[in-house]
Amino acid sequence: MEIREAQKWVKDAWSRSPKRMSQLVELATFIEECGELGEAIRKIEHGKDKEVDLEKEMGDILLSLLTLAIRYDVDLQNAFDRTVESVKKKYIVR
Ligand SMILES: [Mg+2]
Repeated sequence: MEIREAQKWVKDAWSRSPKRMSQLVELATFIEECGELGEAIRKIEHGKDKEVDLEKEMGDILLSLLTLAIRYDVDLQNAFDRTVESVKKKYIVR
């Protein structure tokens, strides 16, 4: 699923949900998910790889970021494309 397609899917899913989180809860959720990823990486670095599901934690962050993007009407596909162009100019040797 492409980023734009994922954003549309999440937007549609939330529009059909009876409970929409407030913007502050959405932000808190995003921060919480980032913390969970940090904890997972810390466990991996301490040799406890079997206790973590890194793919799940990154998926949680992506969903949460998509949710924030919808809230603030940000097109994440455009955002990512802009960032890629910026990285190419700054860091990629041609
Ligand atoms: Mg998580």
